[in-house]
Amino acid sequence: MIPYARQTIHSEDINAVIKVLRSDWLTQGPTVERFENAVAHYCGASYAIAVNSATSALHIACRTLGLGPGDWLWTSPNTFVASANCGLYCGAQVDFIDIDPHTYNLDVHALEVKLKQAAEQRKLPKIIIPVHFAGQSCAMQEIARLAKQYGIAIIEDASHAIGAQYQHEPVGNCRYSDITIFSFHAVKMITTGEGGMALTNRPEIADLLRLLRTHGITRDTSKMNSKTEGAWYYEQCELGWNYRMTDFQAALGISQLRQLDTFVDRRRQLALHYHDLLAGMPLTRPWQQPEVDSSWHLYAICLDIDQIDKSRRQIFDALREAGIGVNVHYIPVHTQPYFRNKGFSVGDFPKAEYYYARALSLPLFPELRESEQGRIVNDLFEILS
Ligand SMILES: *Cc1c(COP(=O)(O)O)cnc(C)c1O
Repeated sequence: MIPYARQTIHSEDINAVIKVLRSDWLTQGPTVERFENAVAHYCGASYAIAVNSATSALHIACRTLGLGPGDWLWTSPNTFVASANCGLYCGAQVDFIDIDPHTYNLDVHALEVKLKQAAEQRKLPKIIIPVHFAGQSCAMQEIARLAKQYGIAIIEDASHAIGAQYQHEPVGNCRYSDITIFSFHAVKMITTGEGGMALTNRPEIADLLRLLRTHGITRDTSKMNSKTEGAWYYEQCELGWNYRMTDFQAALGISQLRQLDTFVDRRRQLALHYHDLLAGMPLTRPWQQPEVDSSWHLYAICLDIDQIDKSRRQIFDALREAGIGVNVHYIPVHTQPYFRNKGFSVGDFPKAEYYYARALSLPLFPELRESEQGRIVNDLFEILS
């Protein structure tokens, strides 16, 4: 089976992990700090806080920005459930903005309309989470303009987009957001097995993120309410969690980060090759806005199902049977049973649903070969005709 995604692990990655396993420090320590500095430097952000998953990063990002009961969080329905669940963890309510049918990212015009209505009803969200679908940045400048106008915070869910560029600058520099989140899950651009990171340019946000990552506990005497009672002393000042990354994961992360540009270049090359191979077939190929350079986490096509005498399900099953690990991204979050129980229904965000009904992610990862792409597209062509 050719998988839809696969990590690339070289011997240098393995050696970096072994070195930490042989050292005195396994849990969060000096290597995590080095990894944070390396990612912050790569992206041009002031601070980076490593955690055990992007889901954890989204959670503490929402808490840091003060999200709580009575508040609203808005995100895209075309995402993994974690982009919405972080709001629910904080006791807030979640709503969605329908997608742009070309980029599959949240539609800025729909956002503008919805904000105007929400302002009239005094139900403005506290946080908006734009999701950079497949590695293509959302129109952050426009989103930031609207957020500023209405006094809303922005968390970029860049789980797909480390290594991507927006307006010729790295995604993650937080120029248009309060916090940016990355995922280092094995299918993402670079991996630490499981892992995530939150980046920000604001010191007070970085401090609180660090505190919430580890139980809300500080050992920094300058941040304590009372005087220290000795070298053992720590204070819990907030309610936090254990969301720490281990040092051997961070070692893998540092080693992977060195290869990120090579990975992204290879993904771009493969995406261009798919683009050529798929020309003329009854489907829409991924389209990029001119001001972005995607990291190509996914190669997601939209089947022209009205021109094909098979269903998406039949096409998907036939490809899987042929040993091609296609996938579908994403089931619109609002149609999940958990969200339907909160009052959402099919039909609420028709563009996300329309796309979902036709979507197919073709295998894409740095070690995929052009010959395999040829086989994938040939099989797809035969199934479609
Ligand atoms: C993978 C992913 C997440 C969650 O990442 P984890 O590191 O697995 O917690 C969140 N949002 C999006 C868009 C993702 O693709």
